[in-house]
Amino acid sequence: MSPEREAPQRPVGLRAEDIGVVFGRGDRAFTAVDEASIDVAPGEIVGLVGESGSGKSTVSRVICGLQRDYTGTVSFAGQKLTPKRTAAQWRLVQMVFQDPFASLDPRYTVEQTLSEVIRHHRLVSGKEALRARCREIMDMVRLPHGFLGRTPVTMSGGQRQRVAIARALALEPQLLVADEAVSALDVSVQAEIIALFAHLRDELGLGILFISHDLAVVKDLCARVYVIHNGIIVEHSATAELFRSPQAEYTRTLLAAVPRFTSRFLDRVEGDPQ
Ligand code: ADP
Ligand code: MG
Repeated sequence: MSPEREAPQRPVGLRAEDIGVVFGRGDRAFTAVDEASIDVAPGEIVGLVGESGSGKSTVSRVICGLQRDYTGTVSFAGQKLTPKRTAAQWRLVQMVFQDPFASLDPRYTVEQTLSEVIRHHRLVSGKEALRARCREIMDMVRLPHGFLGRTPVTMSGGQRQRVAIARALALEPQLLVADEAVSALDVSVQAEIIALFAHLRDELGLGILFISHDLAVVKDLCARVYVIHNGIIVEHSATAELFRSPQAEYTRTLLAAVPRFTSRFLDRVEGDPQ
């Protein structure tokens, strides 16, 4: 049985196949993710949507190499990735979290944060090249270079999230896993960060797995959406198809729970500049 509605040939980027995660043992064993398969092609933004507790973050942890025990396989461009990754493999897939503080040291300026990552992975050599690279990354996330001297506490939530994205980009990843990356932001700021993800896809050819509990936020951004319920992928459809004629009963429930999606979509469907 496959929830897949259409399976066009996509270039090989991320492929997570039959992922299973069980927490606890014996009587207390709990299946958090059950045979979930997800793929994201280079330059493609794919949504993973489900209610809180449905297993989204657990899937993302497996993909990023942060979850040690699981079944199934994760590969990128045909290369198998396990939790034991080389530095180069580690850089391939980077996460952006809901709370930018999770990835940012509050004592560091933006320049220190970016420089540390770049130096650690020896991605450029020489002070000037390092400074230039930091500026280039600020341009990618549309932050003024003046922000390089600032610390996270002096910024708004949206600006901090841009810095968290910058930090991920400093590693030159090919895939971003954005786990509820806009969920803590106001709707207008959400739209800005969503637009930024779209720019990054276009400019860098990045693949993005965009995880959210909110179907409304995936609508304009994602080409395809996986819907996960109790650890099981219950639907996988092109986004427009999913909104037009959801396949799974559960997807219908999710759609019904998002009353604002219709108006937000209609407001933005034509001529959205982002
Ligand atoms: P989501 O991100 O969709 O909210 P999670 O992947 O965080 O869901 O969690 C899925 C389920 O697995 C939840 O029921 C959660 O309580 C459980 N879970 C997550 N991490 C652990 C863990 N380390 N130990 C035990 N249970 C966990
Ligand atoms: Mg989560």
